[in-house]
Amino acid sequence: MRILDFVAGALGLPLFSLALGLLSALGLRFDVKETLTVTAGARLFWRRRLVFRDGPLAGFANRLGLAHTLDCLALMRGHLALVGPRPLPPLAAHAVASYRIALRPGLVSPFAVRQWAHIAYDSEEAVDFAYAGNRSWRGDLGILVRSLLARAHGSVRASSLDRVEIDGIPVDNLTLGDAVGRIVGFLDKPQHRVVSFVNADCINKAAHDEKYGSALRVSDLVLGDGVGVRLFSRLIGEPLRENVNGTDLFPRLCEALQGTSHSIYLLGGLPGVAGAVSTWIQSTYPRCRVAGFYDGYFSAEEEREVIRDIERSKPTLILVAFGAPRQEIWLRENLASTGAKVGIGVGGLFDFFSGRIPRAPMWMREAGLEWVYRLSREPKRLFWRYGPGNVEFLGRALWAAFRRQLERRRLVARNAH
Ligand code: UDP
Repeated sequence: MRILDFVAGALGLPLFSLALGLLSALGLRFDVKETLTVTAGARLFWRRRLVFRDGPLAGFANRLGLAHTLDCLALMRGHLALVGPRPLPPLAAHAVASYRIALRPGLVSPFAVRQWAHIAYDSEEAVDFAYAGNRSWRGDLGILVRSLLARAHGSVRASSLDRVEIDGIPVDNLTLGDAVGRIVGFLDKPQHRVVSFVNADCINKAAHDEKYGSALRVSDLVLGDGVGVRLFSRLIGEPLRENVNGTDLFPRLCEALQGTSHSIYLLGGLPGVAGAVSTWIQSTYPRCRVAGFYDGYFSAEEEREVIRDIERSKPTLILVAFGAPRQEIWLRENLASTGAKVGIGVGGLFDFFSGRIPRAPMWMREAGLEWVYRLSREPKRLFWRYGPGNVEFLGRALWAAFRRQLERRRLVARNAH
């Protein structure tokens, strides 16, 4: 790994210097900012970064990464690594655990990649700790590639809006932690509330299916799931705070419900699947109560019996896994009759937690490629969703971005008059 860092520094230094020289000749001006930084073994070094003065070329120079020109020297000297925990000043480094002190700080940190991919649900310390235990040069190369991919579709800036409109569907701009808090809060209120997740496929479906679109619009909470929705929000200039998907939310919700008076009913999936999820909950979160479960392949005549079974079990929360749009429409029509306070449409979630279908590995999720993994597992069923479906969704996103741009221009022109 040390060799990789040295080579990157040795190649980067002349290239960056050349670009810097050319841009300086064109008028780019900069200062050198020095910060005392801790490296492996708690040694100190002066890190020197370039800060570009305001001007037309400053943004371009930053985008090329020229601020890191002198970091190439630090890479060659072994003070910095390409990949490693975030560089810290001495005072902050005092507070961190010893495993971190043993590592050289990195230009790209594993936690920053998750931030860019909007899936930084765990603490920075937990991510660094896991990284320290599994380091390898292949892993580092993977993190570098993922950092480039995550930067391509992600954004660190988040919109300040409470709800961001994704093709006419208002999506709540929350972090995963906020969403869990909201759902738990709903459980104690007298009203019945529906929570929906939307991904790119749901947005396409809502555009063609008015009943589904209106079910989403009246949902009490709409959570943006996946790289498509994030990309859309970014293209219209209102990036969503976090990727809030059911699979990451579910265990945190079970944890939050442990030891409370609330209980969950699991409805949906193939026969045996909801039962396996119940077993998973009981073994992982023993103090989280499961009120009952039923598969998702019942007839119209059996529906009464299913609703009666839910009523009898008296859950406060019901998870419905029929897939979109059936689950959202079902919840809108039947939640009140079941007696449950909150209903969440969770799509294929039970398939993951029952172990029927494995989830994409973390590196694919960081790279925004979970959908590629799902497509590779079930190509026949998912081809239309992820092939032509993704193209359609991208078209919608670009069209919305174009309209937004026109609107902004019109506003600017009106204000100028
Ligand atoms: N399903 C169901 N009843 C049906 C059709 C589907 O319970 O009549 C279940 C199916 O077994 C699967 C889930 O609904 O567990 C839908 O999964 P999908 O991957 O389509 O959902 P996504 O998360 O992608 O929306």
